[in-house]
Amino acid sequence: MVFDFDGVLVDGMREYWWSARRAALRLAQPSRAPQLELPETAPAGFVQLRPLIHKGWEMVLMAAELGRPDLDLPVLLGDYAAALPGALERWGWSPAVLQQALESVRAEAIAGDRAAWLGLHRFYPGVPERLARLAAEGADWAVLTTKGGAFAAELLASAALVPLDLFGHEQGEKAEVLLRLRQGQRPLWFVEDRRPTLERVRATPGLEAVRCYLASWGYLAPGDRHGLAEAGIRWMEPESFAAPLAHWP
Ligand SMILES: [Mg+2]
Repeated sequence: MVFDFDGVLVDGMREYWWSARRAALRLAQPSRAPQLELPETAPAGFVQLRPLIHKGWEMVLMAAELGRPDLDLPVLLGDYAAALPGALERWGWSPAVLQQALESVRAEAIAGDRAAWLGLHRFYPGVPERLARLAAEGADWAVLTTKGGAFAAELLASAALVPLDLFGHEQGEKAEVLLRLRQGQRPLWFVEDRRPTLERVRATPGLEAVRCYLASWGYLAPGDRHGLAEAGIRWMEPESFAAPLAHWP
C-alpha cells in the first residue's frame, strides 16, 4: 500500500501558498520584478493551478507568476507544462534554487514555531484512523511524495503515524521508486491524486501490476475523473477508502 501525501493524506493548501509566497518574495530580484506583491491568502489561481503542479519548486514559480499584472491565467492553465521553461527564464531561476528556497522557508518555519507550521495543514477526515487500521489488516503502508521527506515525516509524526517507508523527492521519480518496490514482487496499490502521475505509472514497463487509485478528495483538475477505466485507473471515494481492503474497488 503506497500513498501519495499532499492531496491524499493531508490538505496543506494554506501551507503551500504560505511557504511558496515567502520563497518567491525572498528570491525575487528588484531588477526583474520591481515590486512583486503577493496576497497573504492563496489567490483562486493558485488553487486552480495546484492540480497541475508536480513538484514543490513549481509552487514557488507559480506564486511569482501570479504576481505578474499581465499574467494570462487561462493560457497558463491550458498548457501548464509548456509554460514552465518560459517562466523559469523570465525570473532567472532554476528548479534547484526554487526547491532550496522552499525548503529553507519550511525548515525555518518548523524551527521557529513548529505548532504554527503544523497548523497550516490538516489530515483529511478519517485518514489517520484508517491508516492506523491498516496494520490491523496486515497491510504495510508507505508514503511516496514529491515533498521533501523530512517535512512529510514531521506531519506524520504529529499524528503518531509510522509508515513502513517514506520516500520524498530525494529518492527519485515516483515511477522509479515504485519499480524498486516492485522488485520485492509484492502486490502494490498506489493511491494518488495527480492523474498524470498515475498515467505515467500505467505507462511504465514493469509497473503493469500496480493497482492505481485516483483519490476523489484530492487536488483534481476538471475532467480528471472521466475515462479512468480506459486508462486502467480506479476511482477511490472516502467511503471505499474507509472500507476493509477486500472491498476496495
Ligand atoms: Mg498529491
